[in-house]
Amino acid sequence: MIQKIDHLGIAVKSLDESILYYEKSLGLKCEHVEEVESQKVRTAFFDVGGTHIELLEPTSPESPIAKFLEKNGEGIHHIAFKTDDITGQLKQASDSGVKLIHETPFEGAGDKLVAFLHPKSTHGVLTEFCACKA
Ligand code: ZN
Repeated sequence: MIQKIDHLGIAVKSLDESILYYEKSLGLKCEHVEEVESQKVRTAFFDVGGTHIELLEPTSPESPIAKFLEKNGEGIHHIAFKTDDITGQLKQASDSGVKLIHETPFEGAGDKLVAFLHPKSTHGVLTEFCACKA
């Protein structure tokens, strides 16, 4: 079952410059910065009342985020729903005709299992499921 919006992923060109904006202009506090090698990104997390902002900076031109920036510029990249059963959630989506980007969850930032649904079958929103590792 989906429990909450876990985070919004935002693609940025420079993590350092973006962190400054969120800290100085909005008064939020960066909780941690982490590199996710499998996705070729550096991430920074801000807590906003239990939902997080996840800034994503590409670490390589091969990164999906580099491709997103090239196409769209900076902006909202994905929405992530926290679920207590990521496998069941993927099956429910798939059974209802949604195209999955990942059939099997993999390890994302924050030591969580994550998987993405294809934006072509989610009305334009790249959608992530995430779950705490059992
Ligand atoms: Zn995410």
